[in-house]
Amino acid sequence: MQDRDRLLHETLERWFGFSELRPLQKEAIDAALDGRDALVVLPTGGGKSLCYQLPPLVLGKLTVVVSPLIALMQDQVDGLRLNGVPAAATHSNLDADGRRELREMSESGALRLLFVAPERLFRGDFLEWLGRQDVAAIAIDEAHCISQWGHDFRPEYRRLAELRERFEGVPIHAYTATATPRVREDIKAQLTLKDPVELVGTFDRAELTYRVLPRQGLIEQVVEAIGRHRDAATIVYCISRKDTETLSSQLQSRGIEAKAYHAGLPAEERTQLSADFRAERLHVVCATVAFGMGIDRSDVRLVVHAAMPKSIEHYQQETGRAGRDGLPSECLLLYSGADAAKWRMIIERSGEESGDLEATKAQLQLLTHMQRFAGRASCRHRSLSEYFGQDFLETNCSACDVCLNELELVSDGHVTAQKILSAIARTGQRYGASYVIDVLRGSKSEKVRTRGHDQIPTFGLLKQLTAMRIGNYIDQLVDSGALVRTDGEYPVLVLNEASAEVLRGGCEVELRAPKGGLDQPARRRRQGGASVEARALTPPEIELFDRLRALRREIASSLGVPPYVVFSDVTLEEFARNRPRSRAAMLDCKGVGPKKFDSFGERFLAALADD
Ligand code: ADP
Repeated sequence: MQDRDRLLHETLERWFGFSELRPLQKEAIDAALDGRDALVVLPTGGGKSLCYQLPPLVLGKLTVVVSPLIALMQDQVDGLRLNGVPAAATHSNLDADGRRELREMSESGALRLLFVAPERLFRGDFLEWLGRQDVAAIAIDEAHCISQWGHDFRPEYRRLAELRERFEGVPIHAYTATATPRVREDIKAQLTLKDPVELVGTFDRAELTYRVLPRQGLIEQVVEAIGRHRDAATIVYCISRKDTETLSSQLQSRGIEAKAYHAGLPAEERTQLSADFRAERLHVVCATVAFGMGIDRSDVRLVVHAAMPKSIEHYQQETGRAGRDGLPSECLLLYSGADAAKWRMIIERSGEESGDLEATKAQLQLLTHMQRFAGRASCRHRSLSEYFGQDFLETNCSACDVCLNELELVSDGHVTAQKILSAIARTGQRYGASYVIDVLRGSKSEKVRTRGHDQIPTFGLLKQLTAMRIGNYIDQLVDSGALVRTDGEYPVLVLNEASAEVLRGGCEVELRAPKGGLDQPARRRRQGGASVEARALTPPEIELFDRLRALRREIASSLGVPPYVVFSDVTLEEFARNRPRSRAAMLDCKGVGPKKFDSFGERFLAALADD
């Protein structure tokens, strides 16, 4: 066992320049080396790729990786090859020479990692050919795509079950970043995993700072957020194509180089834009959700949602694109009540078209959870962890607007709470939040009038507040236990003992609202699983880091690969901090292996010596 651990360690150092494995990587790799099936759920940036990249190097055999995205595959292959690992990808863009080279590498036994798109797997005689290769393991990336309960179901994934029959005895490993327990079960069943090792990492992303603010002057808010991150990669997600264009041109007129990305752009333009973003020629992209799946830039420092996404799953996935390298990054959600209304309309309309009532209902429920997340005044890290079914043990995360005290106490919060509770009492505890809000805002709607609720004393008592703000306060009351929202399809607000206490004035409740003017950059909370705490760079180190980045860009562009596959920001920060002066000192830095040192170590040493 010890020998195996030593071998693992040497292989890790030699091919990747890393000195230790992250939580669960070891267990996932052990499962692969033991020939067991596995299901591995690790958050974005958690280091899933290494789990399937290392075993073939230890075993000296081929692993086949099924991945849905050509761009990502190619990046991985480029990165692996820079580390000296014999890797290849087969997809529709591969020319005849590429195909021949790939077959030769595999047939000679040299190939260690072969990336395949699922549709490619079943085309022509590919599977038959693959069956003749010495395949030691099969890794399925983005495995949630196999489940229709997931948020990204891809029918072509369903056929992956056939791999089990064809490759009898070959272990299958499924990897995903987002999977609720139901989706996890589905993945195991669909792929017929046999007694799999199940590894579920923590969903919490310690390096991300979450902020949630009502949208008040979008462009100012986005400019301010970008200002908190010097020259950094930023994605601004918008709901509609038009919004991406409006926002990017507004940013341009403020002197910020930004481009719009959406599925309506011509294919060449989209490809060019993605390439520019990856090559660090472009830093700010205003995009619909069409942007992201294929974007693996690991140094995204800011993800802004210019509007609320339609589910927490989407939010987690999109914010997950920030800080994949483990460095502190920020996620800012700007929302308004109109966002939920817009999504509701979109979901209902597509429900009418598909006729799938169940799916529509499920989606509306996901939307409600998202709305509540936004309106809450409780720790964002905790809310997200709990949503995905995990405990969160810290009392103050110090990396969200709530714990950083960026929400302020509403001065008349207690009275406002009493007004809300009283409206619920006086309307008979029979209605959901939106009706109670109508009454409190003095709506003249037919429903309110026919029920006589325009005659009760609480009618119109909070008409100075927006519906969204009252909704947030209701969520806060439910969170604090001073109010109950029933389960079921049509949740109703009802009072409990604590509500009665509040109404009697017996106990104080607090309500919170965001305050303006943030100037704090993103922080890193604690020693997260994915990263080692390192002090922030000093101004001279920042200058050096920028020069190293420029050198990295130059090398990457001459090799035709994205810069982060040369060295990640983590490595460059370490160079700037420790200024290695020799081969040995540079090899000690995270992410520098002998092969990479031989390829461009000297150039970085020279740049460091010049400083
Ligand atoms: P995922 O696929 O889970 O989103 P990646 O595999 O892309 O995550 O890994 C995220 C980043 O972490 C990459 O830059 C990768 O090189 C780095 N990384 C992975 N494992 C380790 C490790 N053991 N030590 C240091 N860095 C690591």
